[in-house]
Amino acid sequence: MDGNTLRLLIFVSVFILMLILESLIPRHPTVDSKPRRFGIHLGLSGLNTILLKLVFGAAAVGAAKTVEIKGWGLLNILGWNNVLEFFLVVVFLDFAIYLQHVIVHKVPLFWRFHVVHHSDLDLDVSSGLRFHPVEILASMLYKIGIIFLLGPAPLAVLVFEAVLNGMALFSHSNIALPVKADHFFRKLIVTPDMHRIHHSVEVSETNSNYGFNLSIWDRIFGTYKEEALKSQPEIVIGIDTFRSPNELTFYNLLIMPKKYGKLTYVT
Ligand SMILES: [Zn+2]
Ligand SMILES: [Zn+2]
Repeated sequence: MDGNTLRLLIFVSVFILMLILESLIPRHPTVDSKPRRFGIHLGLSGLNTILLKLVFGAAAVGAAKTVEIKGWGLLNILGWNNVLEFFLVVVFLDFAIYLQHVIVHKVPLFWRFHVVHHSDLDLDVSSGLRFHPVEILASMLYKIGIIFLLGPAPLAVLVFEAVLNGMALFSHSNIALPVKADHFFRKLIVTPDMHRIHHSVEVSETNSNYGFNLSIWDRIFGTYKEEALKSQPEIVIGIDTFRSPNELTFYNLLIMPKKYGKLTYVT
């Protein structure tokens, strides 16, 4: 089985599992139409996948293979090839993604694109696919840059990407984990309740809980919020600028950075 098939398999399995759990144990009431949002999010995901393929071809794993063949990057120069390196790479890449997330909140130009993700009025498994194409392409460029400097094993990059995809679906899902389980998992990884706080309209909450996989970066760098001002089911999701589902069409999400970017700056 090649890497792409494995990633697709993990993606589809986690997606379906989260959908089932969302129907059985939802945490938060919905305000927008789920089928409408699903259509938009799958459309964005399809468009982003095609653009990534056209612009970057084999993307992050391909970059790691090139760097390995050329012997570039810190780890290829050091010549390590063991389990420790594998874990270090996965943890370091997660830190890099955390840092990127903080930056797209702090730099107004980047926020214009990231706001598309935050404009969702509900949060569920499909929200993990809601990203503007420019943010997806810039994010891949950033990742490839890090891979060229770091020189990680292609397998480590593949595992990281597969875990990142699966975790994005889990952390955005609208599922009610038992509070004790949530607190237990949250010591190490980002849970749905933790990420829901990041999607709150409260600006101080939007600018917290930036982690994607590991929750440790938020704790280390002081951006962690244990609880929102409101209880989890009462958190108002989205941003103040857009409160009507009618404004949030596929087309409006694509033009949002240009047309509405300035209005939505909340950091
Ligand atoms: Zn964000
Ligand atoms: Zn999110």
